[in-house]
Amino acid sequence: MPFDASNSAPFVDSFGRAVRYLRLSVTDRCDLRCTYCMAEKMTFLPRREVLSVGEMLRLARVFVAHGTRKIRITGGEPLVRSDVMELFEGLAAWRASGNLDEITLTTNGTRLARYAEDLVRCGVRRVNVSLDTLDADRYRALTRIGTIQRVLDGIDAARAAGLHIRLNAVASRGAFEAEVDDLIRFAHGRGMDLAIIEEMPLGQTGCDRGQTCLSNASLRKDLSQRWTMTPARNASGGPAQVFRVAETGGTLGFISPMSCNFCAACNRVRLSCTGRLFTCLGEEGSVDLRDAAQRSDAAVIAAIREALWHKPERHSFDPATISTPNLERHMSALGG
Ligand code: SAM
Ligand code: SF4
Repeated sequence: MPFDASNSAPFVDSFGRAVRYLRLSVTDRCDLRCTYCMAEKMTFLPRREVLSVGEMLRLARVFVAHGTRKIRITGGEPLVRSDVMELFEGLAAWRASGNLDEITLTTNGTRLARYAEDLVRCGVRRVNVSLDTLDADRYRALTRIGTIQRVLDGIDAARAAGLHIRLNAVASRGAFEAEVDDLIRFAHGRGMDLAIIEEMPLGQTGCDRGQTCLSNASLRKDLSQRWTMTPARNASGGPAQVFRVAETGGTLGFISPMSCNFCAACNRVRLSCTGRLFTCLGEEGSVDLRDAAQRSDAAVIAAIREALWHKPERHSFDPATISTPNLERHMSALGG
């Protein structure tokens, strides 16, 4: 179906921020149980509640027809979904026809070795791979069930396929602080960017975030004693504060939702795998686009505009109450 140019006014919120970026969660399931993200025992959604690939493409098309230029596929772990490549193939056609600038993926990397070449074939050029440690025992402890070699193999395969990689690491006190220099050398030595993310209070995980949460402000101060960091352009246009590290030539980003609010430039919305549209990661409000889609595209468009009208000016995460989750929803429900 061609894109309809006659009704293509961009989606804009009540603060004048246009939506250019859609994060599409394709599953709430995952093959890991990262301690900052999930509880050890999770109840996942019944499969019948999860959108089909066709339904996802139908909803994504409405965003693309109204100004969205970038789509990130996320989860849960997107690559555990067996038909995920059908979705990438659908999006690839839009990129090829110039209706979309970029298709990206956030993945834990465990299945990247299998999919790296297919992703490139579908026009994916950059992926974010989550990796918080290079130590196999610590990786197992952090993910509760993971084997680090699978991720390292995934990274090798992705690099060999020509994908540009940004490693995402969630900051934490203690071992992470001792290891972060090695992560910088590992990433930059392989031509990868590194982004360090502050832990956010989403969902009960069975771990007290008050014990682990590390502020990027203090981490940056510490790093600046050993590394020469000068501000650099943020190639992704996202909320990271990006620096070039003189000693390695690589880039280091800090994503600091807790210590440095970046909502003024927010251009993104998130669609859950059940078809609920969330206009802010840090707020509960959502609308059901699957239900609207059963009526018409016009109903979907009206529901999106209504939701955007209520998009908050900024999230309300508070470092002082980090031990108490702001929301019941886990990070895996929307994919960050
Ligand atoms: N499974 C994929 C992955 O791990 O990359 C995609 C989904 S995961 C929820 C997306 C990103 O959120 C990952 O980089 C992960 O490290 C990060 N994340 C998970 N829980 C978080 C939390 N509570 N605070 C900050 N980042 C978190
Ligand atoms: Fe899974 Fe990603 Fe959450 Fe880890 S961060 S449990 S890999 S969804």
